[in-house]
Amino acid sequence: MTLPACSTRMRVFLNPPQEGIIATETTILSPVRFLKGVGPKSAGILAKAGVETIEDLFYYVPRAYTDWSEVSEVDRLRVGDRVTVIVKVLSSDLNRWRGGRSVFMAALEDDSGAIFARWYNQPYLKTTLTKGSKIVLSGEVRFDRHARRKEFINPAFELMGEKDVAELVHAGRIVPEYSQTGGISGKRIRRIMKTALDRHLDEVTELLPAWVVKRRSLPARRDAFRDVHFATSLEIAGRARMRLAYEEFFLFQVVVAARRRRLKTREAGVKGYTWDKHEHERFLGSLPFELTAAQNRVISEIRTDIEEPGTMNRLLQGDVGSGKTVVAAAAMHHAVAAGFQVAIMAPTEILAEQHYASISSLLGALGDRIVLLRGGMKAKERAEALESISTGAAAVVVGTHALIQKGVEFHRLGLVIVDEQHRFGVTQRAALRKKGRSPDVLVMTATPIPRTLSLTVYGDLDVSVIDELPPGRTPITTAVRDESGRGRVYDFLRSQVEDGRQVFIVYPLVEESDKIELAAATKMHEELNRKIFPDIAIGLVHGRMKAEDKASVMNAFSSGEISILVSTTVVEVGVDIPNATVMVIEHSERFGLAQLHQLRGRVGRGEHRSYCILMVGRGASDEARERIQVLADTSDGFVIAERDLKLRGPGEFMGVRQHGIPKFAVADLVMDMRLLVNAREDAFELLEQDGALAEPESRAVVDAIKRRFKGRGALIDVG
Ligand code: ADP
Ligand code: MG
Repeated sequence: MTLPACSTRMRVFLNPPQEGIIATETTILSPVRFLKGVGPKSAGILAKAGVETIEDLFYYVPRAYTDWSEVSEVDRLRVGDRVTVIVKVLSSDLNRWRGGRSVFMAALEDDSGAIFARWYNQPYLKTTLTKGSKIVLSGEVRFDRHARRKEFINPAFELMGEKDVAELVHAGRIVPEYSQTGGISGKRIRRIMKTALDRHLDEVTELLPAWVVKRRSLPARRDAFRDVHFATSLEIAGRARMRLAYEEFFLFQVVVAARRRRLKTREAGVKGYTWDKHEHERFLGSLPFELTAAQNRVISEIRTDIEEPGTMNRLLQGDVGSGKTVVAAAAMHHAVAAGFQVAIMAPTEILAEQHYASISSLLGALGDRIVLLRGGMKAKERAEALESISTGAAAVVVGTHALIQKGVEFHRLGLVIVDEQHRFGVTQRAALRKKGRSPDVLVMTATPIPRTLSLTVYGDLDVSVIDELPPGRTPITTAVRDESGRGRVYDFLRSQVEDGRQVFIVYPLVEESDKIELAAATKMHEELNRKIFPDIAIGLVHGRMKAEDKASVMNAFSSGEISILVSTTVVEVGVDIPNATVMVIEHSERFGLAQLHQLRGRVGRGEHRSYCILMVGRGASDEARERIQVLADTSDGFVIAERDLKLRGPGEFMGVRQHGIPKFAVADLVMDMRLLVNAREDAFELLEQDGALAEPESRAVVDAIKRRFKGRGALIDVG
């Protein structure tokens, strides 16, 4: 069945009770305010929590459950039991104190005996729990020392009336606990949910293809909604939640699979071209080193992509220092040999400069056909660069996001490379691609992205991993130090500099615009310069400096004129200075683990033993110290990334600029990893079977995607 697009189904009575009256019937797709107990104000609050329709409400799943299903007789209660009793109110008493506080006490009994209960500050119970009313009450049995008797304090309860036990909501069952939202308490949501389910559960239809439900042994959608809210066992509730999480992942992965299919099968633009074998040997022969097995494997993966008629969309992951640049250079070499232009985009000017330098040396034969497009270029210089890009004289164009600005026109752009992809949003990636007619795209990242995230954020990309470092690297020794160790840290830096090595000291700058932090970094530079190391050349680089000034400090550091570089996090990405052996990170507790790992990767790139010293500030919590310790314990970027993701959550992990992560209502990117992998497999299979998503089963999926992900930040354009 396809549900109507409008939220209210109209029904015209054939024999209207009154002429001209059209009755509208509330359906599962109606706004929640059509539910009994939900006024305009509550509807507004719910909308903020992403709940607009009754169906959305069903996806508002409990954050936990309390198991009050064990029913006991009163005379068998023992202190500490967490149980339910079914009792009658014998007598009650309300005491009010000044300040509006109160206690309501009740004596309760069943056939076996009597027990007491009291509720603080709920005076209205006086009218609810009247003498003789039958209630179901759930709570922990306590012992009152003064009265020397057992009692319940603030227990959950529900009036039994004529109800059947199965109809209970707040007590005597597995009770769903909802997060309160705005001014709506979890208890009220429970009530509203019950009403909604009673009325509209029957309208719930399956939306997953039947083969998927069968393959994954999923509970039916209708049962899942019922059981995720009001289950008869925790296990059933858990399976219901799992099914809904799966569904969410599946819908999202269908979007991803459809997007990917579109990218792959684009007609126009760059068709596959073969890599000339001799060209490749020439390239390899020109390198100052042998490629690692991992680099060779990734290069052949890229080659396969390029030779195939479809467009390449590949993510290259490799820990810092694993040698991604030369892999990119191999792809560039062949693109240029086939007559195409290449664009490579880096997130910072410093990194763009560095790429320009390393690519110029790796692809030396291209000479001045390699062009650097900087932000602060003089008008004439810029005009010349743009001219050579548009005529095709420029073969390789290196730059920052200046590359995606208006006015940058390529002659025949065939390959786009985006470095440190996590610094760019999805839209920037797309903008660069649009500079050509469906060029091949290679995105590179040194932030090891946990699998869950790469399957969502980069789900439309093929993934290659360089999982091996070039030979001869010594592991980096990592230590955590606090203020009491500062003197010794400085002594150590001095000894390294005296041995001819170089040092980074990084100061955290949370926001590029943060003046206070900037002042702190500047002050530190001055102090080191004047008091601590007056005899050593020290440079300072930060994000607010002019591009030329930055570049000249970086050049002085890389040529060895400067021994110690004090900087804000601008050195985070890509800088390659093999003689630098010490990375000191001030206030390391303010950074995420993945970011610290990145910074650490700036050292250990040469033949000398390297060190990373993580300074923790006075105010750092024990928790923060513990977190930092992870870095000292492992150098595996993926382990660190998983830990970081768990500690900080996906949004924070990816940084504010990343827009690709949808908000899932039920699924949890960290906990439900296995589900995601399964859902992805199934979604891709669906697209294999029905690429146009035109079959009735697929249409139901597409409709559901439109309803589920509206305004949730996912890039939804299914087909
Ligand atoms: P990243 O993956 O962090 O971008 P780079 O591409 O900057 O790493 O490479 C780090 C360093 O390792 C560079 O100095 C590079 O020349 C060197 N390198 C890359 N591949 C190899 C290799 N196979 N053997 C030796 N050195 C290599
Ligand atoms: Mg790099």
